[in-house]
Amino acid sequence: MILATEGLRTPLDYARLPREELAERIRFRKQELNAVILGHNYQRVEIQEVSDYLGDSLGLSQEAAATEADVIVFCGVHFMAETAKVLSPGKTVLMPDLRAGCPMADFVTADALRALKAWYPAAAVVAYVNSTAAVKAESDVCCTSANAVEVVSSIPADRTILFVPDRNLAKYAAGKAGRPYVVAGREGVGEVPAGAIVAWDGYCYVHDDLVLDELAEARRLHPNAKVVIHPEARAELLAEADFVTSTSRMVQIAEEHDELIIGTERGLIDRLRQRFPLKTLVPLSGAAVCGNMKVNTLAKLAWCLDHRKHEVVLDEEVRAAAELSLRRMLEHSGGCRAPTPEERALEDAGLARSGCGCA
Ligand code: SF4
Repeated sequence: MILATEGLRTPLDYARLPREELAERIRFRKQELNAVILGHNYQRVEIQEVSDYLGDSLGLSQEAAATEADVIVFCGVHFMAETAKVLSPGKTVLMPDLRAGCPMADFVTADALRALKAWYPAAAVVAYVNSTAAVKAESDVCCTSANAVEVVSSIPADRTILFVPDRNLAKYAAGKAGRPYVVAGREGVGEVPAGAIVAWDGYCYVHDDLVLDELAEARRLHPNAKVVIHPEARAELLAEADFVTSTSRMVQIAEEHDELIIGTERGLIDRLRQRFPLKTLVPLSGAAVCGNMKVNTLAKLAWCLDHRKHEVVLDEEVRAAAELSLRRMLEHSGGCRAPTPEERALEDAGLARSGCGCA
């Protein structure tokens, strides 16, 4: 007989329990707290199985903001839980493990961004959603991997843009928008051409580590496969792709093609394989695993719900400024709202999804 009401002391105590018992405890406590569990596309399969919503970080935060839940448990990395809190200030946001951080987001701090802004005081600041709330608060507008080109293109062609923190996404957006591109750090790089994108020198190690040799090998084994790659990868890889797109759009592409080589984190590819077992969906690299995402486990999730930890708290001034930056972006992509029933039906069929990539 499982006494789900009795919490155990540490996550390690929970790790000794069978998976079914953990899932039962999670269901029990979730109901008691009126909580929703959000599982990012890159989470472990066992976490995805107990999640109420699966998707990318912004889509998940929008879903959560639209629910009646009192508590949001975000199974992802820290900036994602912050985004949920930014959009749902009245709800309690919990994370199973505070150490689940994103190295890309950590490349730039609000202080370092302020230093770069001082070099280019007239520039517009675009923050990829894979950034901390404090960095978003220092920015004019956010973007996702799905709408980066659109957001950048909405800024006057002769105005300098500071783009943080992903240099690869910045370069991709600059190429598509026909803008000059330079990479800078907090010291700036002096005078830049009119309308240039000045990118922070940050990157996602999972996507930046994808290399041409692995793509060549995957192509040798699957010569008829189309190649789809996330724009956080390097430009030389993107130049070889049939599709450069966010993880959300990858789900649609998998619906439309029988054989794909996919350049993104393994968690999404494993999920696609479950969903389309008869298709050939091959990871561009078997090593493309985000260890930070996998920090969350079922045991930690059960512990987090039982102990109502770890709560994500934001300074209200920072939260409000970050929200403004996010909402400016959402004006470009349909606003901050839950999907309509029609959109939900399309999403369930894997045919449409707003939102972004890892973020
Ligand atoms: S996959 Fe990359 S961007 Fe996403 S959480 Fe991991 S390190 Fe950060």
